Order: sequence, then structure tokens, then C-alpha cells
Amino acid sequence: MALHISGTRIRLFRDCARKWAFQYIPHGPDNTTVKLPSTASQQLGTDMHTVAELYLRDGVQGEGKLWEMFSSGIDQWPNTPYETEVPFEYPIAGGTMTGVIDVLDRENKLVGDHKTTKTFYWAKTKADLLSDPQAQTYAIAAAHLMGLGPDEPVNCQWTYYKTSKTQRKFYEAKSVKFKFDGATRQRAFKKLETSAKKMLALYDEKVHPLDCQPNWDHCGAYGGCAFQAECEKHGETTVSNLSKLDAVANDDPAPATHSGALNLYVDCEPLNGSYQTLLEFLAPEITQLCDSMDLDHWTLADYGKSPGLLCALLSERDDLSGEVVIRSNTPEAYAVLSFLRARATRVIQGVR
Ligand code: SF4
Repeated sequence: MALHISGTRIRLFRDCARKWAFQYIPHGPDNTTVKLPSTASQQLGTDMHTVAELYLRDGVQGEGKLWEMFSSGIDQWPNTPYETEVPFEYPIAGGTMTGVIDVLDRENKLVGDHKTTKTFYWAKTKADLLSDPQAQTYAIAAAHLMGLGPDEPVNCQWTYYKTSKTQRKFYEAKSVKFKFDGATRQRAFKKLETSAKKMLALYDEKVHPLDCQPNWDHCGAYGGCAFQAECEKHGETTVSNLSKLDAVANDDPAPATHSGALNLYVDCEPLNGSYQTLLEFLAPEITQLCDSMDLDHWTLADYGKSPGLLCALLSERDDLSGEVVIRSNTPEAYAVLSFLRARATRVIQGVR
């Protein structure tokens, strides 16, 4: 069977080639790939796409949570009806790039995408999206579908819908708008092509996933890789285990330097290099807490709930990394220090 390439698969391959290979190169005694089940949040996103499609294409209004979520961003789509769920394919590196565009508006030369998210903290910026393989793939496909010349830009709109209500009991949505001009599309295609070539070569040679390049910095992302046990069985130590070992062997006072490391400086500061204060580090969660409960300050939640709520929000964050300076006698340290100590790659403890 031929391997299909897509923007999300290229993103996965770049995150960790081995993780991609487990899911797309047949292997093992049964010569099969591993199909991971959808998570609840992925399923919610899929279901909301159906509601969005019905409205944007046919004008059908829905009801219930999915409709409320989608309709919080309805004003972002003023030009109904749109073409929706538009499939595409084009050749790349001797293979085929495939995908399905959520929203296409030929008149306005626009390609649109729906994203569901727990918090806008995870919404990608314009710069992120210009280098995102999925956005690049869609912009290139939309230019083909709309017959645009190299000098005509593709307008892009990625709309993020929050999956939980604010304290005032409404959902929220926001759009990130950006353009892909012809030169940017061309550069993007070359990069996509380089990744696609590597993927096709590994696939054609039937390379076993465990012989593909691992990325130890990615093992803990998105709640933890499903293949950690496989990698560990193979005799390799994933980063989440390294972190635990580092925490146990904490007789080394030097900060960890690998990417994805979380170094805490408790009641002290690094001798050199940049760092964030704990308040800066917690800014996304503090903003979310204040927005969702309509608070002027994060410590003002009722009945002393603030520390627990802040810590719960932090525990949802996928990427805990960086250099963080913590004053242990502050309210924010009281709320999250124990949690962060358990997650840290290394804790450098000063003396008060
Ligand atoms: S455990 Fe880490 S190295 Fe192994 S496949 Fe997953 S992300 Fe890659």
C-alpha cells in the first residue's frame, strides 16, 4: 500500500520519526501499524467540525454544547455559504500529499481551519502557523484548487474555539489571520518535500520503528508518548525517566541543559543566562483563571480555592520547560511549588 503524506503526519515525523514510524510503517510479527484511539478532546474537535460544516455549507443551525461552542465564533465566518471539507491531493517527492480543507472561499481566496482548544494559550501565532506543516500544506493546496498564480497570496484564517465556558457562562472563539504569498508557499513546499522524501525512504525500506531516529525531548509532550514502554523495552531511557533520575540524583547542582528541561531556582538565581520569574512562567494560567472567573487578581477566587485552581490549570500544560526563578514565600510558590518540584528536571535550592 502506498504511503500517504499529510501536513499532520509531517509534523508528527518532525516531532519524533520513531513515533511516526510506529503508526505508519507496518512492522512486527503481523506486519501492522499501531492505530492510536482518539482522545476525548480529539473526538470533541471532530464532532464540532461536523456542526461547523452543516452551518457554513447548508446554513443548518444546531443545538447543545457543540453548537454553542461553534456559534461563539460564527461572526468570524460572514460569507456563508462556504465550500467545506474539501479534499485535495498533489504529488510530492514521488508520493502523494493528501488532506481535507475545512473551509474554502474562492471569492476571497481564503482557506480556513477550525481548532478546538482548552485555552487560547495553545493557539498558534501567525509566525507559528507560517512554519506549521499543516497550514503550509493547506495553503499550497488552496492555491492549486483556486488556480492562483505565484504572485497571488492565499488568505488564511485559523479559528480557535474554547471547549469550556468562561465564568460568565459563554464560550469564546478567536481567529488568527495570515497570508501565504507565492514565495513563502514555494519555500514551504521545499521543506515539506525534504521531510516527505525521508518518510518515503524509511517506508519503502520497511525500516523498523525502533531503528528510526528517536527524539527524547518529545516523550513527555501531549500528556506522554504512547510508545514509551516500547522504547524502554528496547533498552533506551526516555526523557520522562531521565527527569526522575535527575531528581533522585540531585547531588549535581548544575542545571540540566537538554532542550525540554525544567530547571527551578528556588530562592536563588542562575549565574548566567535568561530566566522567567514564577509569575511570568504562570502568566497563561493566571490569565485563564482571571478570565474564566472574572477576577481582578488570581488570588481572589472564593473560599481559598485559588492555589488549587492555579495548580490544576498548570497540570494541564503539556510543555513544562525553561529556567524558572521562584521565591518560596510568595502566594504563587505556595500554590505550585510542590507540583513543579515533582516535574522538574533539576532543582537548585538557595538559602533564605
Ligand atoms: S517514547 Fe519518545 S523516543 Fe520513543 S517514540 Fe515516543 S517520543 Fe519517540
